[in-house]
Amino acid sequence: MPERKTKRGAERTPLEGDWDVIVCGASFAGLTVARELNGSGARVLVVDRYEIGERQTSACAAPTLWLEKLGLTASIRQTFGDLVFHTPHADTRMRLPWTFSTFDYAELCGLLWAQCDAVFETAKVEGRAAVDLPAQNGSGRPIGIATDRGVLTAPLVVDALGWRRVLGDGYQPPDAPLSRGLEVHPRGTGDDLELWIERDVVPAGYGWSFPAADELRVGVGSFDPHHHVKEPTVELADRLGLPPEGYQGNWIPHRLRDAVERDIFFCGDSAGHCLPTTAEGIRPAFYFGVACGRELRSVHEGNSSRDAALTRYGAFNDSHRWKYEWMLRVQNLVPRVPPRVLGPALKAMSTDRFAGWSFRHYLDICPPDIVGDPEPARVTAVAA
Ligand SMILES: Cc1cc2nc3c(=O)[nH]c(=O)nc-3n(C[C@H](O)[C@H](O)[C@H](O)COP(=O)(O)OP(=O)(O)OC[C@H]3O[C@@H](n4cnc5c(N)ncnc54)[C@H](O)[C@@H]3O)c2cc1C
Repeated sequence: MPERKTKRGAERTPLEGDWDVIVCGASFAGLTVARELNGSGARVLVVDRYEIGERQTSACAAPTLWLEKLGLTASIRQTFGDLVFHTPHADTRMRLPWTFSTFDYAELCGLLWAQCDAVFETAKVEGRAAVDLPAQNGSGRPIGIATDRGVLTAPLVVDALGWRRVLGDGYQPPDAPLSRGLEVHPRGTGDDLELWIERDVVPAGYGWSFPAADELRVGVGSFDPHHHVKEPTVELADRLGLPPEGYQGNWIPHRLRDAVERDIFFCGDSAGHCLPTTAEGIRPAFYFGVACGRELRSVHEGNSSRDAALTRYGAFNDSHRWKYEWMLRVQNLVPRVPPRVLGPALKAMSTDRFAGWSFRHYLDICPPDIVGDPEPARVTAVAA
């Protein structure tokens, strides 16, 4: 059983106060937003129901380029230049034009947090709270956030709380556009990032095995939220001769949503930023986290009003909509491809030329160039 680090009982003291920025959620999206505000002088509060890095939320594989750009390479466990696909009638190895790395979740969160100058508190965010406070310059009227420890206020609020979108109009599974994913983390080693596209594993979706040094992250994702994934996950682990230990799972949004709602910024899974088809959500959470953090910074530094920042961030989000809809079409198509055709189709797509072209386009949906070069001060702070 993982050790619970979150404050309980008497340690959970009342929490109140007014901040310049409140970031709700301290995972990939929330920590990236807070990182972008480093050095701005803004009083930033980050809240999460768990301690930073306490609860892993994914198989933790992301493009290495992104981890390098954000100064997170120390958390890398293993790096892969190929993807291996298993289908009922053929296996295919595809060489990628860039690499994926698996990383340690707690370490990565710690490295992101070391690049922030924010305050962190554990608190469960329950929703919006009615407050009546005057507007602050261009930042607008403070927004109230209800938590299990009290009401917090800030003119700039980010919901990076994941698929539930607690501060907006939430989703209700299984009827919302959500996939579901579950994995186990047995000890073991492997050389390849492996994917299974087999109806025997899951009717619509895929299975995976991601090695991370001394553990394997073996799981199943279903695009259809009505399909349970526990049995398929156990079966896949069994097929690989691994014990189904260390369960971790969640709902995964597969449709882009509005990134602003009633003066709140939404980022990561709360905005449906996870990519359809691949369920790759870490890189988009970083990408939109950078964009969101920059907008908040411009408001705090007096270069923009909150309204203008909300409009710009919303438009930035919407400019990606066609790419997300296109990925969703692929997601809907894959389960309809006859199994006999799937293997040869993947083989045809695995030429270096086609894989290079398609994966470069895929990276360009949320490219790492948005980050810019690391500032010397930031690099020193992390290295210290
Ligand atoms: C099994 C599985 C494997 C996956 N593997 C990968 C992968 O290998 N690569 C990849 O790119 N994507 C993967 N994904 C998708 C990826 O995990 C998500 O897209 C990503 O975590 C989104 O980041 P986020 O910061 O938006 O949200 P999250 O990582 O979900 O973080 C939300 C944070 O908010 C906190 N929180 C939630 N509710 C409250 C509340 N009410 N009050 C306070 N705090 C709260 C949580 O504790 C958490 O820290 C996987 C998903 C699943 C389910």
